[in-house]
Amino acid sequence: MITNTTKRFWITLLTSIAFLVRNRAYRKWFWLPLVVVGIGFLIPQNMIIPVAGATIKNWDDHSFWAYPWGTSITHKGIDIFAEKGTSVIAATKGIVVYTHKGGKGGKSVMILGPKWRFHYYAHLDEIDTFPLAPVAAGSVIGTVGDTGNAKGKPPHLHYAITTPFPYINLRDDTAVQGWKKMYYLDPDTWLRQ
Ligand SMILES: [Zn+2]
Repeated sequence: MITNTTKRFWITLLTSIAFLVRNRAYRKWFWLPLVVVGIGFLIPQNMIIPVAGATIKNWDDHSFWAYPWGTSITHKGIDIFAEKGTSVIAATKGIVVYTHKGGKGGKSVMILGPKWRFHYYAHLDEIDTFPLAPVAAGSVIGTVGDTGNAKGKPPHLHYAITTPFPYINLRDDTAVQGWKKMYYLDPDTWLRQ
């Protein structure tokens, strides 16, 4: 498994199916979680740049999968630079899965968006949302900062997208850790248009 979020996603999905199958009364509903997954894939994504006022000039077009990148080996997201305190906004509609303080990401927020893509916002100065909060694209979820391993570096938002469903076609045998590109999606795909 790739990330804790991916692991938790699969555990939740498989245990809910197992629960339905094991209970004689609910067994006929075993397909329900699969339909929920299918519906998630139909929701349009409509992604925006997740820093207020930022343009594509605020991050380097080689930011994604930059190598070498410290203990992460490769850089699995993009760094959007902005002044400390600038609003961080949700890139898509979704539901806040968790907020976290500590570790490499510092203050961070994870949002589940359309198509079962998990959007990770890190190094925040302040978190302005809470777990299970529904968000629209553009909802303020915090401010740009330099927390976690961004300490002492120019304030920026580390923005990454992960998927528990691997995109086999994105496997890249020429890149370092290239097989992980099936699970970490390049935000440029939708933001640089
Ligand atoms: Zn980063």
